[in-house]
Amino acid sequence: MSETRSPTVPADAAERRAARPLVCYQVEQLPAPDLELYHRARGTAERVDEILVPPRDGRAFEVPAGSFFRITSIDGPQVGDLNLWHRHDLGERFFSGKTRQLHASHVGLGDRLWSSLPGLRPMATIVADTLDWYGFDADGGGVHDVIGTRCDPYTNRLLKGVDYHYCCHSNLTRALAAATGMPPRDAELHVHDVLNVFMCTGFTHDTHQYFMKASPVRPGDYIELFAEIDLLGALSTCPGGDCGSSHSDDATPCFPLKVEVFTPTPAALEGWTPPAVNGYSRTHGL
Ligand SMILES: [Zn+2]
Repeated sequence: MSETRSPTVPADAAERRAARPLVCYQVEQLPAPDLELYHRARGTAERVDEILVPPRDGRAFEVPAGSFFRITSIDGPQVGDLNLWHRHDLGERFFSGKTRQLHASHVGLGDRLWSSLPGLRPMATIVADTLDWYGFDADGGGVHDVIGTRCDPYTNRLLKGVDYHYCCHSNLTRALAAATGMPPRDAELHVHDVLNVFMCTGFTHDTHQYFMKASPVRPGDYIELFAEIDLLGALSTCPGGDCGSSHSDDATPCFPLKVEVFTPTPAALEGWTPPAVNGYSRTHGL
């Protein structure tokens, strides 16, 4: 808290603090995902692609609308930073902040990953998560957060005065540049706030600071998502490894992550259509 905060506590402070908290959005009005249909379709799916993301690096991958992608921990506990774009329009990308407001600080089974304005539609739906059992621990920590942004070389330079080139921001930049042919300086501008896959985070009870703790992920654990629209994804294997000690350096053991894409038979998706972009007129009162 700032030193300049007024020391005067109003007489009705307790009354003001007792105002009832309201969940900001009427989320029960969100279109519900048909998980049964997804699970039936998944039963018919065949693996069509596999991408290995080496430690402290990034790789891009494509997932057609109606397909599934699974991110799996393989050799050791490892956190991944995920970016998603509309395959045909990089301007429509994962909107971490609104996803947090519509669902929670951490996402899980049945939650959607929403796209940026003005699209604001589900890009992907979480259909399986072997860490679903974790919930929230005594420290207030949970997994798969949409709070943190991504480790980046600019914050690192600000805090430590040195350059480190394998932060998630840089890993995602290199991955997107390689996938699109864009110069890295242009690709960097498309890198955005991530879904922190497998990362265990929260806010400290006393000071409400963002914390991380060793991820509970173990080899064999995975999260799987259904692509609601054609996706270009990029995944970084965070230099923090399991994020139990440090990040933005080479101090922590790091492991690869595996991405697999599965495509179901078209008949299995009968009844499902990709969501349209948001219907707002975009006239903004003019
Ligand atoms: Zn990172």
